[in-house]
Amino acid sequence: MKRSLIHKLCCPVDKSELELQVFKEDKNGEITDGLFTCPKCRRYYPIIYGLPIMTPDEYREKSLETPILKKWGLTLDQNDPERFLLEE
Ligand SMILES: [Zn+2]
Repeated sequence: MKRSLIHKLCCPVDKSELELQVFKEDKNGEITDGLFTCPKCRRYYPIIYGLPIMTPDEYREKSLETPILKKWGLTLDQNDPERFLLEE
């Protein structure tokens, strides 16, 4: 995903502006691995293989995202297994 598109993204749940962490960028400046976090509801939205996962909670698969987050050194909030939150 291109950096120039990022300012257009907001949290699908509460429309807050998202914060971005970049883990990997290719030589064209495309972000291949990254993570958006919402400062309001604390949900996270990963960028995996260049695609931002911005679908509603009920269409997301935690089991698919967990190994990727682990690779990035992030841990999920185990106290709230229903939602997509990171451990603080
Ligand atoms: Zn939010």
